[in-house]
Amino acid sequence: MLKDLVENWQNEPTPFYLYDLDLLRQTLEQARTAATKYNFQVHYAMKANSNKPILKLIREFGFGADCVSGNEVKRALKRDFDPEHIVFAGVGKSDAEINFALKNNIFCFNCESSEEIEVINQLAAKQGKTARIALRINPNVDANTHKFITTGLEENKFGINIWELEGLLELLQNCPNLTLIGTHFHIGSQITDLNVFKNLCLRVNEVQQWFISREINLPHLNVGGGLGVDYYYPEEHLIPDFESYFSIFNEHLVVQPGQQVHFELGRALVAQCGSLISRVLYIKKGLTTNFAILDAGMTELLRPMLYQAYHKIENLSSQKPEIKYHVVGPICESTDCFAKDLFLPETKRNDFIAIRTAGAYAEVMSSEYNLRDKAKAVYLGQEVKTV
Ligand SMILES: *Cc1c(COP(=O)(O)O)cnc(C)c1O
Repeated sequence: MLKDLVENWQNEPTPFYLYDLDLLRQTLEQARTAATKYNFQVHYAMKANSNKPILKLIREFGFGADCVSGNEVKRALKRDFDPEHIVFAGVGKSDAEINFALKNNIFCFNCESSEEIEVINQLAAKQGKTARIALRINPNVDANTHKFITTGLEENKFGINIWELEGLLELLQNCPNLTLIGTHFHIGSQITDLNVFKNLCLRVNEVQQWFISREINLPHLNVGGGLGVDYYYPEEHLIPDFESYFSIFNEHLVVQPGQQVHFELGRALVAQCGSLISRVLYIKKGLTTNFAILDAGMTELLRPMLYQAYHKIENLSSQKPEIKYHVVGPICESTDCFAKDLFLPETKRNDFIAIRTAGAYAEVMSSEYNLRDKAKAVYLGQEVKTV
């Protein structure tokens, strides 16, 4: 329990990110067990959290890396991920990023437009290489998640629409330095309705049929990530239900003989192992509700301000009866607010506040706005030892 740790933090500068590596280990263990059962391969979506101890642990569990920038590819290599298990996605890969990934012989580029395909072909030719590519196809499946984090609808910057495929196949005829090895789908993030994944499977089957009818054999199928976590009751669901998630795909995907199925999980692997720990600076009287002003703000956790996201907020220092607060940060922006009208035990200056489920898309989005110091990371549990 986080409450039990408070006494150790009296001299600890706040805010800081707290990561529970034992919980991360258990999460990775369960994800791996569930995926292995169906011979599924999992690549960790590095953009969720790229801290060294976390990447080392994920690497140790044998996951690959899903990267969305050249620097993520570089980081994955530095953390010893095998280039054979690195995939590179993103709508806007620069020439320098593509060249870097080509030079390091990564497993696959997930391509999102015809122009990108031509550029990768040209750059591969210059290096005298053949690049493996997959087409990121937009399946037009509604992820039933917040509109800010939906990626799989037709009118979206991500992916290639199905009606463009015919033309792309012609284009590929003239790209001798590319090998098409598969298709790729990623429809959004924080998806908690498993039916969405069933719908994805049915669409993927149709797309696969389209290729089969043209006698195109694709050895790889990548269905992306997006499995959500419980931001409301983290304690009840510290580890996502990987078994149900993977079994949906096992049940509904029509996998071709010899075809390898890949996944790209980010949030589901790391979100629950992290919390943002902060102190209350001041309590300030408002018109109807008091403000609890924290020493953490949008510079440490942007999700509430960027996506109207909910995070559970706990006062670790008070057991008093609850009253209502607006919980805000110190940044000079009105949007720097974590929660409005939130009931917390009566709160005072210097109380410790935990903002839960902050292992994914939190520290990686931190900024120095207002010239803030970078909050440090504190780890609980055993780190991976390097030999
Ligand atoms: C962000 C991203 C993921 C991971 O999404 P999660 O919701 O964190 O699982 C997977 N694939 C691609 C292409 C992404 O951009």
